[in-house]
Amino acid sequence: FDVHGAPILGQDDKLKGIVLVFHNITELKKLEQARKDFVANVSHELKTPVTSLKGFTETLLDGAMEDEHLRKQFLTIIANESERLEGLIYDLLELSKIEGTQFQLNWEEISLDSLTDEVFLILNDKAEKKQMKLVKKVTGTPMIAGDPHRIKQILINLVNNAIVYTPEQGTITIRVKEQAETVLLEVEDTGIGINKKEIPRVFERFYRVDRARSRNSGGTGLGLAIVKHLAEAHHANLSVESDEGKGTVFRLMFYKRRPENK
Ligand code: ADP
Repeated sequence: FDVHGAPILGQDDKLKGIVLVFHNITELKKLEQARKDFVANVSHELKTPVTSLKGFTETLLDGAMEDEHLRKQFLTIIANESERLEGLIYDLLELSKIEGTQFQLNWEEISLDSLTDEVFLILNDKAEKKQMKLVKKVTGTPMIAGDPHRIKQILINLVNNAIVYTPEQGTITIRVKEQAETVLLEVEDTGIGINKKEIPRVFERFYRVDRARSRNSGGTGLGLAIVKHLAEAHHANLSVESDEGKGTVFRLMFYKRRPENK
């Protein structure tokens, strides 16, 4: 609470009372704190790869360059860290664009069937490296209203996470089911799962269940925050069900037709 006080004086200038105004600023404070946390997180996330880029470059310049093995090892780290930094900056720009007031979707009629094929093609190499199966199951007509570029972005994020958080030889299944007014899309994996307590938090920016593991996997911690915003823009209901150690399902319910007045 923000409290302001003022004295009430009588004609003889004697104190008769005090007016106290209580202003509830809980929401404001929360917003302010969220903004501060975000800036602190961004700074930290940007600083980590830059520190390592600086360190490895300096070590190379100080003589490690002469050793061919070290040179290759350090340059590989530098390449990977630069890529991570690039990914982080890209995700940050995307998030700020999606959250901005100018953000608009280009609504079209799209097929979740062919979009799934496109996404599987993009992530095929990554899945093959872990000897994973990518499976698609479609029932009914898979047509929805949405922005193809944005729906693809949602799918890439979900399937990429499914691959990252599933041990080798697992299976990633995309299920598309036509319903009355909507089409249900499920991305299911046979991975590590998410603890019940953590589920509500995974959509927060930079929230990671296991910081070290997620960071090593090359993630930015922004993927699901982007998915959540894009789902909201499509008025698509988004939910998660997970069984620790067994796997996770992300569910999205898209409208067949663009919701009116929205
Ligand atoms: P990250 O870049 O760290 O993957 P995300 O925003 O995409 O960030 O996801 C947030 C966190 O949610 C991840 O760090 C991970 O702990 C958890 N997570 C996301 N998808 C899955 C999944 N399919 N299985 C298990 N955990 C997941």
